[in-house]
Parts: sequence; C-alpha cells; structure tokens
Amino acid sequence: MTRLNPEQNAWMRGDDISALFKAFPDNTLRFVGGCVRNALMGVEVGDIDLASQLKPDDVASALKAAEIKYVPTGIEHGTITAVIDGKPFEITSLRKDVETDGRRAVVSFTQDWAEDAQRRDLTMNALYADFDGTVFDPTGQGLDDIKAMKFRFVGEADLRIKEDYLRILRYFRFLAWYGGAAKLDASALKACRENRSGLKKLSAERVWSEIKKILSAPDPSRAVHIMLTNEILEEVLPEASNAEGLSRMVKLERREAIKPDPLLRLMSMAAREPLQMALLCKRLKMSSKETQRLRAWSDSSVALDPHGENKEQLKSIYLGGKTVVIDRCRIRAAGEDDAIVSTRWMSLCDLAMGWTPPEFPLSGKDMKAAGVKSGPQMGKMLEALKALWIRSGFTADREKLLMALKLINR
Ligand code: ATP
Ligand code: MG
Repeated sequence: MTRLNPEQNAWMRGDDISALFKAFPDNTLRFVGGCVRNALMGVEVGDIDLASQLKPDDVASALKAAEIKYVPTGIEHGTITAVIDGKPFEITSLRKDVETDGRRAVVSFTQDWAEDAQRRDLTMNALYADFDGTVFDPTGQGLDDIKAMKFRFVGEADLRIKEDYLRILRYFRFLAWYGGAAKLDASALKACRENRSGLKKLSAERVWSEIKKILSAPDPSRAVHIMLTNEILEEVLPEASNAEGLSRMVKLERREAIKPDPLLRLMSMAAREPLQMALLCKRLKMSSKETQRLRAWSDSSVALDPHGENKEQLKSIYLGGKTVVIDRCRIRAAGEDDAIVSTRWMSLCDLAMGWTPPEFPLSGKDMKAAGVKSGPQMGKMLEALKALWIRSGFTADREKLLMALKLINR
C-alpha cells in the first residue's frame, strides 16, 4: 500500500485542509490530481484539488454547515470552489462523462471512485489520497506510471482525446513540466498527432491558458520540440513555431538567472513581425496587457545598438520604452551565436533595467510663463526642447532649457 506521509507533506495538514475534511462525512472527500501526483513524484505541490462522493448540492450544504465560503465555479460539471482565507480549493463531485463533443461533456454523478478515475486524462492524474495519506489507484496503472515516468492516457488514447481535444495540450504540459528525458508512450503520441486538427474546435481561452502553462515549465524545450515535429505546434501557434528559438531562450535564462516568462518565451519563438503578432494575439484572445506587451515588442522601430555609446543607448531606451528594450535585448542575446555580442545585448538590457528615465524638466506652465501661446505652436516648441534634452543625454537641466526656450522664442 502506498501512503503519503502527512508529516512530510505539509500541504496535507494546513488548517484550511483540516477544516475541509472535517466538513465532510468520513471517507467522502479525497485529494486528487496534481497534488497527489506531484507529492508522489517528490516535486512541489501547486493547487490542491479534491474529489467527493457527495453530489454538488450536498457539497454545498456540507460547506455551508461548516461555515466555509464557496463559489459554484463549475456547478454543471460538479465543481464547487471552497474559499478559505482567500485560498481556493476545487471540489469536484465524482462523475462520469455521458456525452462529449470534443470540447465539453454532459456529466452524471456517481459514488464510485473507479468510475471517476475513468474520466480523468492521464493515469498519473487519476490518483486519490485520503486525509491520512493512503493512496488509491483505481486504474491500477497510475502508481507504476509515475515510477516509470510514463505519460499515458486512461484507457484508449485516441478515444480519450476525441472526447476533449484540450487533452493533447495537457499531455504536453505534463511532459514539459515533469517529463525530463522520459521515453514517450507511442500510442499517446500517435493519438495526439492524429487528432491535432481537433484543437481548432477549442475555445481560444482554454488553448491560450494551456499554452501559457506549457511555456511556464522550467524547461519546455523538449516538449515543444516534440509538438513541432508532430505538427501540433503549427496547429496552435503558426506564428510562433520556432522551437529552436525557445531552447536558446531557456539557455539564456539559465545563464542570466532570468525567471521563466511565458510571454518572453513566446517572443523567442516568433518573428518580430507586427501583422503576425497582431493576428496571434487576436486569435488566442489574449488579455489587453499581454497583447500590449507582445505588440509593443513586434512594432518597436527604435534602433538598438549593443555597441553604441551610453548616451545613444539611453536615448533609445527612452524612446523605445523600458519593457520593449528589455524584451528585445533578451531575444537578441538568446539568438546570438557570438558570445561577446550576446553579452553586449545583455549589458544594454541591464542598462535598461537599472535606469529610471528622467522626467522632462519643463511643462506647459513654463512655456506660458515665457509668453508662448498655447496651441500647436507650444506643442512644437516643447517637442523641440525635448529633442534637445534627449540629445544632451538628459543632462540639460531646467535652467539650460529655459535659456534655450528664450532663444527659440525670440
Ligand atoms: P496542476 O498541478 O497543474 O494543477 P492538475 O493535474 O491538478 O495539474 P488541473 O487542471 O488542476 O490539473 O486538473 C485537476 C485534475 O482534473 C487533473 O489531474 C485530472 O485528473 C482532471 N482533469 C482536468 N482537466 C481535465 C481534462 N480536460 N480531461 C480529463 N481530466 C481532466
Ligand atoms: Mg490542479
């Protein structure tokens, strides 16, 4: 019998978790999914998902009786999210999928843990643990597959993917995060490849959210490369399918202690081409913040010279914007074969990171005080003075600029 020792798994014994288990009748609530899988693999546990024999209404009543707040986040699929001290816990009633269309399922609830396991994606994600840590493996394959690092679908891969094409991307997400150099399950890979066109049926939000998770893995290069060679990458990221660019970025991150950043990684896989990037952002329905960053990167036309003088470089950072310059430098540094040039790009990046662009010392008020009438004329003069200030390497101070103003205002 496999057991997770709560003494060594602090996440099993938080006050929040204890309160949750107390709210449910004995043996009707179990840990499931990522937390059990990761604990058994010996890697960090992220969110904690739970499964319950109680039907959604009864889950709600149990939480209510225990005065635990909850939100019916996915009630039609049996998911209620309990919220304790602001922390969410997804509790899903045991269920089977009775009807599927490749995107979503019509479900019915069951009391049977084994039936619930059958509707989960991978064998290693269909493991349950009770409050004491006893692990249950209804498919009989999950524990062995974790030991062997075998990423395998529950049941027949082809059928399971046709029920929900997102499972293709989930497969690569788990491979990216935990797969290391693991040998691939041939039938899983074949089914992913053959069903790749089904990815088109999914909503943009689900696809983008999953892509971000893949790209957030410590090193997703291998998984992404396998997606490329199996023509799956092309299906979801036709505008950013340079897997080689990604491995170069990961190498740079390691060298320069840069935290994994899915957007930067996406840029490393794309050409700096405004139209393509605009299309990509739109198709995947990215947030306005994400779109803004990616498009600013692809649209930026300011010249950057890693060998330039400090003054010139500050000027381009000022004009280009800090974030854009940092992103552009990192992409260039990652793609550069010449180690010396690559280091130069990183120096420019460091300069941008460490520099706070100064505020232009004059305002409209100063102009008025000098007798300039508001309107286009004032705008033009301000622009001229600003250009002068930038050319000075931001050293021209208020006094000097006021003097210049007097001269041009004569
Ligand atoms: P993570 O550690 O990243 O949260 P996870 O395995 O817990 O990984 P979740 O998305 O939180 O993934 O889902 C929880 C569990 O629900 C999964 O482990 C899996 O058993 C099941 N699951 C989630 N999405 C699907 C899906 N599309 N098809 C089948 N099973 C799924
Ligand atoms: Mg989870």
